[in-house]
Amino acid sequence: MMKIEKLVLGSMNTNVYLLFYEKEVFVIDPACNYDAIVKAAGGLPITNVLLTHGHFDHCGAAAELQKAGAKIYMSRLDHEMIKNGYDLARFCGTFLTPFTPDEFIGEGVSEIGGQAVKVLSTPGHTAGSLSFIVENNIFSGDVLFYLSVGRSDLPTGDKRQLTASVKRLYGLGDAQVFPGHGRSTELSFERKNNPYVKAD
Ligand SMILES: [Zn+2]
Repeated sequence: MMKIEKLVLGSMNTNVYLLFYEKEVFVIDPACNYDAIVKAAGGLPITNVLLTHGHFDHCGAAAELQKAGAKIYMSRLDHEMIKNGYDLARFCGTFLTPFTPDEFIGEGVSEIGGQAVKVLSTPGHTAGSLSFIVENNIFSGDVLFYLSVGRSDLPTGDKRQLTASVKRLYGLGDAQVFPGHGRSTELSFERKNNPYVKAD
């Protein structure tokens, strides 16, 4: 049974999730502040880092964590977006330390670093946005928020795709949702109450 801890880090108040397994920690979206993340891991090694997408406010500490031994996983599309200069950091007057993922992942992956992590392709906020399902929890990045959804007006964003991705998440069984920003929520609650995307 995995335990989830959340840190809120960086100028965009990004949710950084630590997944505690028996002898290791996975991190989803290490926004920034390597030291705070390592401290929160409480002495357990951070072995794997999963990125929901390539925006700088979700991967600022990825390079440092990789240097310290963690493996980085993300979509190839979003890594290309960063490489091709659509690095949102530049538009926000900041800088993202470059890194090369250890493995590109996408739809159909069901295991990462020996643990059960189901990967769904949920484009629309960015072309390579991923959602991760671990046990009964959905890590939805900037696709689905508490009573809101992600922006689709940034490079590689697409409103139609975003709507389809949110509806796809609605179609999953009941689960707790852990978004990239703001409070967590229940999928059943969003299905009924989210004002931006209505369930079919
Ligand atoms: Zn984003």
